[in-house]
Amino acid sequence: MAVPQADIAILGGGLAGGLIALALAERRPELNLVLVEQDEALGGNHVWSFFGSDVAKEDRWLLDRLVVKGWRGYDVAFPGFERALSTTYYSVTSGRLDFELRQTLPPRSVLSGQRVVEASGTDVRCADGTRIAASAVIDARGMRLSGELSGGWQKFVGRMIRTAKPHGLERPLVMDATVEQLDGFRFVYCLPFGERELFVEDTYYSDSSTLDRDAIGKRIERYAKNRGWKVKAVLSEEHGVLPVVSGGDFAAFWRATGAGTAKAGTRAGLFHPLTSYSLPHAVRFATALAARHDFSAEALARFSEDHARAEWARGAYPRKLAAMLFGAAAPVDRYRLLERFYRLPVRLIERFYAGRSTFADKVRIVSGRPPVPVGRALAVLAGAGSANRLRHGSLRAEAA
Ligand SMILES: Cc1cc2nc3c(=O)[nH]c(=O)nc-3n(C[C@H](O)[C@H](O)[C@H](O)COP(=O)(O)OP(=O)(O)OC[C@H]3O[C@@H](n4cnc5c(N)ncnc54)[C@H](O)[C@@H]3O)c2cc1C
Repeated sequence: MAVPQADIAILGGGLAGGLIALALAERRPELNLVLVEQDEALGGNHVWSFFGSDVAKEDRWLLDRLVVKGWRGYDVAFPGFERALSTTYYSVTSGRLDFELRQTLPPRSVLSGQRVVEASGTDVRCADGTRIAASAVIDARGMRLSGELSGGWQKFVGRMIRTAKPHGLERPLVMDATVEQLDGFRFVYCLPFGERELFVEDTYYSDSSTLDRDAIGKRIERYAKNRGWKVKAVLSEEHGVLPVVSGGDFAAFWRATGAGTAKAGTRAGLFHPLTSYSLPHAVRFATALAARHDFSAEALARFSEDHARAEWARGAYPRKLAAMLFGAAAPVDRYRLLERFYRLPVRLIERFYAGRSTFADKVRIVSGRPPVPVGRALAVLAGAGSANRLRHGSLRAEAA
């Protein structure tokens, strides 16, 4: 097999790999890129959403053409109260990412349907024997958990449905926790993409990673029925089992996927510890990378590790809250932590999701009357970790 040469080989044409390719193509057009994806389609099968306040204005150039829908605000609902928040909300789809990547990159730069079986900082080998030699490799092949992080799980099934009549929802319902609380903290998430087109996702913050797709599918049907929505067609379905990280050993996590190779996306731990959302992190990484000048393998490996370590440090507070959610609150009471959180000022909520909580925010989020026993909450927040270790396990999932 001929050995394609590249300045940069990006492994994994998912969210992070795709954004890196688009950012480099735009800002560093002189670089010769190769994007290697095991599936035929780039980006998988996702709807990726984000709060407008999660992405810096100066980084929006990378995202704007990927956004398929935006809303001026969103709602939440709990047994005790409902609230309309003014924060903007946007969605990006895999289909659009695939389209934009193929429009932007020359065909020879996209190797889809190619599974990588071996990679170092400068060499890649695919399952069919193809080898790629690159000045630098960036590994963005998705999450790999082998026990270095601890916490619980966020798992969900989401369906894009077409309703027989207009569903009447005008803004995202980001959290409807008025539903029966099962398997930990449960809520339904609804995104109205059209008058009769709606994405409905049933989500669980659970101690277990087992996902019963049939049972959850039936609950989605029941939810739609209770809302008075007659489902005419299910257009697509997605599901996920994502980590909610309350602690762990970053250095061991980094080493587990090869310390000498540049990494990006969830493989590099670039996701919000509590929500597992990674789009804002992926944008920050891609734009910071595209602003660099040294693209050697060593420099990129160092840059990606420094970047991921800084994001890990920034995640310390959300990890403590995750520990509180899983370690200090009884599963059936978990929703009350979120209910209380959503009573706080909108700017504080925005800063929390964006990983920019101030010291005053941090104090405010846990002060008052948290719906968990005070002793347990303090132990968790003090980082004593006993509640941590007692109640939640190390996170493991199949390797990419
Ligand atoms: C269903 C779902 C919905 C989500 N919704 C949101 C959301 O709304 N907002 C948000 O911010 N986050 C969301 N997330 C979480 C997270 O942002 C996504 O998982 C995101 O796709 C992670 O980006 P990534 O690039 O790290 O991994 P991925 O997007 O999974 O990309 C990894 C890519 O690498 C490829 N790959 C893996 N192994 C190989 C190999 N050996 N050779 C070649 N290619 C390989 C995969 O096929 C995949 O395309 C969601 C996750 C899921 C599962």
